[in-house]
Amino acid sequence: MRQPGRAERLAAAHARDGATCLWCARPLDGRVVATTDHVVPKVRGGPSWLENEVAACRRCNGERGHRGAVDWLQECERRGWSPDAERLARVLDDLAAAIEERGGQRRARPHLDAQRRRLANLRRAAA
Ligand SMILES: [Zn+2]
Repeated sequence: MRQPGRAERLAAAHARDGATCLWCARPLDGRVVATTDHVVPKVRGGPSWLENEVAACRRCNGERGHRGAVDWLQECERRGWSPDAERLARVLDDLAAAIEERGGQRRARPHLDAQRRRLANLRRAAA
């Protein structure tokens, strides 16, 4: 399956999620530089699919590094930012569905499953 190029994927992430950073909620208005961040990091086998990418500011993307999405979400909360846990949960669910449909991604699957479980537990605890 053909995946769109980087600029197209960023535009699609904006259209899907709104033009704010998932991690710190700042508007990606040009003063804050927009990047696409891999929810499942490439080093964990995460694919360069739209379903694995969210719009994030360059600072958050860079500071997160290769950390898992839920670890980084918690770090953002510790810093007093307002990460969008609901958006993250939706993206993780959509990615799991895309992997289910397309197959493969054997390395990414266990990491993704663990992230989804942890996020569900966190959100239950917060509710
Ligand atoms: Zn940010």
